[in-house]
Amino acid sequence: MYQDIETAPRSELTDVQSDRLRETVRRAYENVAFYRERLDDAGVSPDDVESIDDITTLPFTRKEHFEAQYPDGLFAADHEDVRRIHASSGTTGKRKIVGYTENDLQVWRDVMARSLAAAGVESGQTVQNAYGYGLFTGGLGFHDGIEELGATVVPTGGGNTAGQLEMLQDLDVDALGSTPSYCLYLAEAAEERGIDPRDLPLSTVIIGAEPFTDPMREEIEDALDVTAIDIYGLSELIGPGVSVECADAQDGMHVQEDHFYPEIVDPKTGEPLPDGERGELVLTSLTKEALPVVRYRTGDVTSLTHEECACGRTTVRMDNVSGRVDDLLIVRGVNVYASSIEEVVVEIDDVAPYYRIDLYREGALDTMEITVERHENADRSAEEIHDLIDSRLHEILDVTVDDLSVVPYGEIDRQETGKVQRVFDHR
Ligand SMILES: [Zn+2]
Repeated sequence: MYQDIETAPRSELTDVQSDRLRETVRRAYENVAFYRERLDDAGVSPDDVESIDDITTLPFTRKEHFEAQYPDGLFAADHEDVRRIHASSGTTGKRKIVGYTENDLQVWRDVMARSLAAAGVESGQTVQNAYGYGLFTGGLGFHDGIEELGATVVPTGGGNTAGQLEMLQDLDVDALGSTPSYCLYLAEAAEERGIDPRDLPLSTVIIGAEPFTDPMREEIEDALDVTAIDIYGLSELIGPGVSVECADAQDGMHVQEDHFYPEIVDPKTGEPLPDGERGELVLTSLTKEALPVVRYRTGDVTSLTHEECACGRTTVRMDNVSGRVDDLLIVRGVNVYASSIEEVVVEIDDVAPYYRIDLYREGALDTMEITVERHENADRSAEEIHDLIDSRLHEILDVTVDDLSVVPYGEIDRQETGKVQRVFDHR
């Protein structure tokens, strides 16, 4: 184990978290006007926070708050103590500016080194870092962690595929940090150059920064003959290194919960949800100095489990992020994520990648209709496809689909431009 805390008994972890939450809330309250006002409005004083269980009394922080406090209104450290700035890519709205003290950078190096070790990377090995360097946290976050672990970093950054392949081969690289889509692109590019991607020296790839499905992971593992490890992080909390899968079990990402405290809440009500239930991931930083973050609504949908892991780590695990709260539909009072329906549909070869979900209200009752297309060269009949999808949806949804239709190829309207609309809410 890279650090003992990863296998600490729950009571020890709880004590660490409680101490650190108290410090975090006090620091935020004393140094950030935004948090002072929010806590005062909620009638909570830092003295009221005694243990980690009191976290549910604290107000949430949202993406909009980062935007309103742009650029550094949420900073809790003096300018001269901030050593580095990063920023999120800002696909919607303003960039979120984040800052790090010297201690924050050390925490980041530690959690990244820990994450790489959990992924199976060892000191003395060579790791190529294809995450982008710059304001994006991916590049430098990985870079520092690789060095901290005692491995050799090859800082290729994003792009320059010919150069990436050359380095991978000539430097006998053991592990690669990359987005999942770029892994697949590299494999294709190798083939085009007459290199069998399975012959590349790589044994591990650490994939993150964009969502992917299990079939995509299998495709990567197969194409490159590697173990593909899922890593999660976000700039608002620190960058990559918030949670990572262990190579031993590859069954959910261990959250570095001595630094980041995770909760799952119902996206509509904000009420905490128990282990195993999917909802919005909320994260609180427990050691950040420059930018403490209290109950940040990540918008990512996942679930948690405290069950023991085969690797011996005792930290809570989060499931692969399966969607965003933006695709939450409420049907007859039950939460349904369009992304989970999509997962079922795209995993079946005989179904074309076009589908639609229609929601109606008849009287006081919601109804949900799903339409999928049978692929041109499908082996299964429309009836077989219907029954297969029906039974899979039955397993994953807490609500019945009122009408499931399998229509011939080409029948669902194609959209030429813009973001594809899948959900049509007629209620
Ligand atoms: Zn594990």
